Amino acid sequence: MAGALWCVVEDDRKGMPKKVMAEALGEAARLGGPVEAVWLTDKADDAGLQQLGEWGATKVWLLQHEGLAPYRGEVWAPVVADLAAKETPKAILAPVTSRQREFMARLAARLGVGLAADSVALALEGDRLVATRPVYAGKLLSKVTWAKQPWLATLRPNVFRPAEVQAGRSAQVERPPVTLPAAQMKLVERREEVSTGLPELTEAEIVLSGGRGMKGPENYVILEELGGVVGAAVGASRAAVDAGWRPHRFQIGQTGRTISPKLYMGFGVSGAIQHLAGMRTSKVIVAVNKDPEAPIFKIADYGIVADLFEVVPEMTTEFKRLLEK
Ligand SMILES: Cc1cc2nc3c(=O)[nH]c(=O)nc-3n(C[C@H](O)[C@H](O)[C@H](O)COP(=O)(O)OP(=O)(O)OC[C@H]3O[C@@H](n4cnc5c(N)ncnc54)[C@H](O)[C@@H]3O)c2cc1C
Repeated sequence: MAGALWCVVEDDRKGMPKKVMAEALGEAARLGGPVEAVWLTDKADDAGLQQLGEWGATKVWLLQHEGLAPYRGEVWAPVVADLAAKETPKAILAPVTSRQREFMARLAARLGVGLAADSVALALEGDRLVATRPVYAGKLLSKVTWAKQPWLATLRPNVFRPAEVQAGRSAQVERPPVTLPAAQMKLVERREEVSTGLPELTEAEIVLSGGRGMKGPENYVILEELGGVVGAAVGASRAAVDAGWRPHRFQIGQTGRTISPKLYMGFGVSGAIQHLAGMRTSKVIVAVNKDPEAPIFKIADYGIVADLFEVVPEMTTEFKRLLEK
């Protein structure tokens, strides 16, 4: 339907949409719909299509082709731009993830429209959509709108209320023909990320972040143990990443990932402005630091002035006891 709100699907690359999609679809419904999903994949699972319907998509544009995986922005952007030119959606939304960040910027350039990246709120004001997004490392919130449609926005995870699950509801599936553009780039080597078994940083409801105070890569095992007990992802400050203790994909902050979990716990993190830029919208912030003057205590809801090497094992034991009850 012309004038729909599209949500570009972020999937787990095994055929299922990720739970951040419930947030994008929920927001599209709140903005009045019609809510439609656009899924580019080499393999879509029926269960995945059902899931999108239960999260409120009335239609799924299924762009299925073996050449769409692995993700390449130069291939995806023209495919969606062509479909958008035919179907004229009002808006195109996507969660902030590594690939959607790049893809949506390419799509905006291709369509010649604006992109409100990393939005934390969307509202219809008359016939305009207004997006709120943090600027200056999260110190200010700016409101932006678009000169023309479609309105493109990426949505910060864990900020928008997820759609209520409507059990048994299914979406109409459209399978438009997919014509791939001639690729400019060639896949030379593919490396799969090794899973830690813990939730993904940007999707997790609880995030434990280890800074320079962790003293070395070998000590992250204590955060992973605690993470395993409470179901948390483990991230790091840039100091820890620069020291080579953690890969860059675990870095939280201005030049790393932006997270907004229900609970953030920082261990041996001082709270530099660039780190805060990536986590200050967390709902509850806990800081453990030996230095009572550490700046992170200024934004923490709960502060523990102590040695993290004593606190973390105690927390692990205590949470295990509580959760086993
Ligand atoms: C352009 C730019 C971009 C940047 N982007 C980022 C970014 O994306 N993310 C980011 O994190 N940083 C970023 N930085 C770096 C940032 O300025 C800080 O240098 C960095 O965040 C500091 O990391 P840290 O808190 O782990 O280390 P430190 O500032 O060294 O703090 C370590 C803390 O650990 C405490 N501590 C030590 N031992 C213990 C212990 N046993 N128990 C408890 N506490 C202990 C200390 O009291 C101290 O407060 C950026 C900087 C620049 C200039």
